[in-house]
Amino acid sequence: MAAEVHGFQTEVTKLLNLLAKSLYSNKEVFLRELISNASDAIDKLHFLSLTDSKLLGDDPQLRITVKADKEARTLTISDNGIGMTLDEANTHLGTIAKSGTEDFFSQLSGDAAKDSQLIGQFGVGFYSAFIVADKVTVVTRSASAKPEEGVRWESEGSGTFTSEHANVPARGTSVTLHLKEEEKDFLESWRLRDAITKYSDHIAVPVMLWEEKYQAPEKEGEEGKTTWDWVQVNEAKALWTMNPKDVKDEQYKEFYKHLSHDYEDPLCWAHNRVEGDLEYTSLLYIPKNAPWDLYSREQQHGLKLFVQRVFIMDQAEQFLPNYLRFVRGLVDTNDLPLNVSRELLQESAVTTKLKKALTKRALNMIEKLAGDADKYKIFWKNFGAVMKEGPVEDYVNRETIAKLLRFASTKNDSNEQNVSLSEYVSRMNPAQKNIYYLVSSSWQQASTSPYLETFRKKGIEVLLMWERIDEWLMGNMNEFEGKKFIAVTASDLELGDLADKEEKEKTEAAKTENKALIERFKLALGDKVQDVRVSDRLFDSASCVVSEQGQMLTAQMRRMLEAAGQALPEMKYILEINPEHKLVKRASEAADDAAFGKWAEFIYDQALLSEQGSLKDPNAFLKLMNELIG
Ligand code: ADP
Ligand code: MG
Repeated sequence: MAAEVHGFQTEVTKLLNLLAKSLYSNKEVFLRELISNASDAIDKLHFLSLTDSKLLGDDPQLRITVKADKEARTLTISDNGIGMTLDEANTHLGTIAKSGTEDFFSQLSGDAAKDSQLIGQFGVGFYSAFIVADKVTVVTRSASAKPEEGVRWESEGSGTFTSEHANVPARGTSVTLHLKEEEKDFLESWRLRDAITKYSDHIAVPVMLWEEKYQAPEKEGEEGKTTWDWVQVNEAKALWTMNPKDVKDEQYKEFYKHLSHDYEDPLCWAHNRVEGDLEYTSLLYIPKNAPWDLYSREQQHGLKLFVQRVFIMDQAEQFLPNYLRFVRGLVDTNDLPLNVSRELLQESAVTTKLKKALTKRALNMIEKLAGDADKYKIFWKNFGAVMKEGPVEDYVNRETIAKLLRFASTKNDSNEQNVSLSEYVSRMNPAQKNIYYLVSSSWQQASTSPYLETFRKKGIEVLLMWERIDEWLMGNMNEFEGKKFIAVTASDLELGDLADKEEKEKTEAAKTENKALIERFKLALGDKVQDVRVSDRLFDSASCVVSEQGQMLTAQMRRMLEAAGQALPEMKYILEINPEHKLVKRASEAADDAAFGKWAEFIYDQALLSEQGSLKDPNAFLKLMNELIG
């Protein structure tokens, strides 16, 4: 039977083209990928053999081998794992199964530097073989198939591959790389040993390298001999089962890369062994970069689950809350049965207990990370917005999470989010009872907001926020260390002792003095506003709009809901005016109601513009403005 020719999935072809442009500076990553696949295949077989021992046949010693052939210029990575059927080879080695793949490729820009960064996050898996090879041959046999049901798959990495049935004597997979002329370095023993040790020390099965060994002579005076033999190059000890004291940082980092398919070092990790009521070992990592699909609904996240050292499943999302979905790692427990399924996991009381414990571990790891300002900065930049989902999702831990939050503040001149709530509270004015914050649509808009005028004048710090999630977060945060959160846009600022007596009296006097003016505004604006008041928070601006505390639908929230296609009733604000301002003074001088109406409209629109960042009818506003100042 002739081999069939198949076309790769479009995305694979794109990926191979990118690889051909050699976006990779670190070429040896192909070894990590292929050894990692071999190790996955062995894990899968091991798991199935628990219920079907026949699968292991007469070859129970699970292992990975690496053999170079200098004459043929080939490198072969083999395993006696689960193997593939013809159908499996055609799909697994012809498509990319990752969810959101299409999404990912639509993000590629054609800019080599940017794309190579992205692709590093995406992970290229098996196809990384084509970084160093101009032809790849895969010979494989599924553990449950007969020798004649073996498979031979081959490709030169340019658009197509061939596959056919072949006689394969043993179970498992061999991947043979026909190395490019300029990559023949990878045939050298020292080069392989170096890379393989690095990438496989933590792998639980032996990785054997075909090496030349020198044998000392048996008798004095005779020549020594060199022979070729299999030499084990890794420790073959599951890293997480080791005592944390005996594990080097380098090993933790490599294990992370194996586990997460990330090409960068992790930001930090936590390795714990717990005995007693609940027995488990966990190894959790925080990546340095956010995965490209952190906000994708299709994103798969979760820990690798092992039961009694046996790999059970990937991406078990039951063990951590959603707001910690960026945490990578594994959990190994003796308290779940080996045949646990996703459904069973969902219902198990052990899962609930583990989730509680692992959430604490993860938060603890983040708390520790917060002690390193530089690292925490990276962390917050990448995962801050996700952490903000925490206080709402995880009521039990909201105090802990609140301490981990970071915000921009009027104390800084930059948009950097680096002020913690504890820090804010520690430098609060003694007379200050509340934590003040402002949610706006950008840092620029927040930091120049008229609502800050009175706070600036009094030297009161205000936390500045502008991310999509902030409105929702703050709508759900009531207090921190006994201090209430108050939006500076609230109709009642509860300034308490912060408003000095003299000022209060002045405002009271202004209120009485301007009663008639206020009535005139109310009459002119009618239904458009909920109320009109004399402001005690404005100095440089003519007006602002405020909403009642607790009224959720503030500007930012509205924008989100409107963007999501929701029809919302017209927002009614309270308009605050500054009678000292020259525009308001000019308005009050308007002779007739029609002229005043225009001024009132103009002053109200200004306030809306500042709060919402845009107006429904900007041209009408400009026309009005030109008319009034013309
Ligand atoms: P990933 O490992 O992330 O799934 P890869 O591109 O590395 O992606 O591999 C694609 C798929 O090909 C694997 O999921 C697996 O099904 C199959 N595969 C690759 N290598 C092997 C192997 N040595 N043995 C069995 N199956 C393999
Ligand atoms: Mg892989």
